[in-house]
Amino acid sequence: MKRLRILITAGPTREHLDPVRFLSNGSTGRMGFAVAEAAAGRGHRVTLVAGPVEVPTPRGVRRVDVTSADEMARAVRRSFPRADALVMTAAVADFTPVKRARGKIRRAGSMTLRLKPTPDIVGGLAKKKGRRVIVGFALETGGSLAPARKKLRKKGLDVIVANTTKAMGSPRVAATLIFSDGRTEGLRPMNKKALGRRLIMEVERRCRSWKASSSV
Ligand code: C5P
Repeated sequence: MKRLRILITAGPTREHLDPVRFLSNGSTGRMGFAVAEAAAGRGHRVTLVAGPVEVPTPRGVRRVDVTSADEMARAVRRSFPRADALVMTAAVADFTPVKRARGKIRRAGSMTLRLKPTPDIVGGLAKKKGRRVIVGFALETGGSLAPARKKLRKKGLDVIVANTTKAMGSPRVAATLIFSDGRTEGLRPMNKKALGRRLIMEVERRCRSWKASSSV
C-alpha cells in the first residue's frame, strides 16, 4: 500500500468565556489517538490535530495542539490540501461565547451567556474534497441512526461512525458504520484501538479504489 497522508482530529475543543472558564465536553481524545496510532503503525504519514487531552502522542505521529474550534478549523484547513484522507473524531464544541472577557468574570447574581455557532470544520471542506476520503463521527443520545445519516449527507462524508455516549471515557466502543452508498455495518463492541485499525483499513480500501478507477 502506498504511504498515505492522513489527517486526524481528536479530543474536545475549549471555548473560553474568560481566561479561567470554558465550555467543552467530555471527550478524552482516545478514539482519535487510536486512529492515529493505527495509521502510523501502517506506515502512513499522520498529522494529528488535538484539542486539550491527556493522552500520549503515538510514535511517528506529527501532533498539532489546539484549544478552540476556530484554532482546530485553521489547523485542519492548513493540512487538508496535502492530505489523502481526513478522519474527524474530534468532539468540536458547537457553540462559543459571543464575547470573551479579558479578566475573570466576577460573581454577580445570575448571568446570561450569549453563544454563537462554531464553524462546521468538516462540512466546510466538502466542496474542496476532490478524491480525499473523509470519515466523520456522530455521537447520539437516542438509539436512531437517522441523525448520523443526515450528517453523512450534509457534510459530504464517505463514512460516518455512529456511536453513543457510552463510548465517552471508555476504552471500548459499540459503533455502527454508515457508508455514503447507504450501507450500514453494525460492529461488535470493541476496543478503540481495534476500531482505529478497522477505520484505517476502510480508508486504505477507499484510497486504493480511487487510484484504481483513475488509472483505467
Ligand atoms: O458534533 P456532531 O455530531 O455534529 O459531529 C459530526 C461530525 O462533524 C464529527 O466528525 C465532528 O468531528 C464534525 N464536526 C466538525 N465541526 C463542528 C462540529 C462537528 O467538523 N463544528
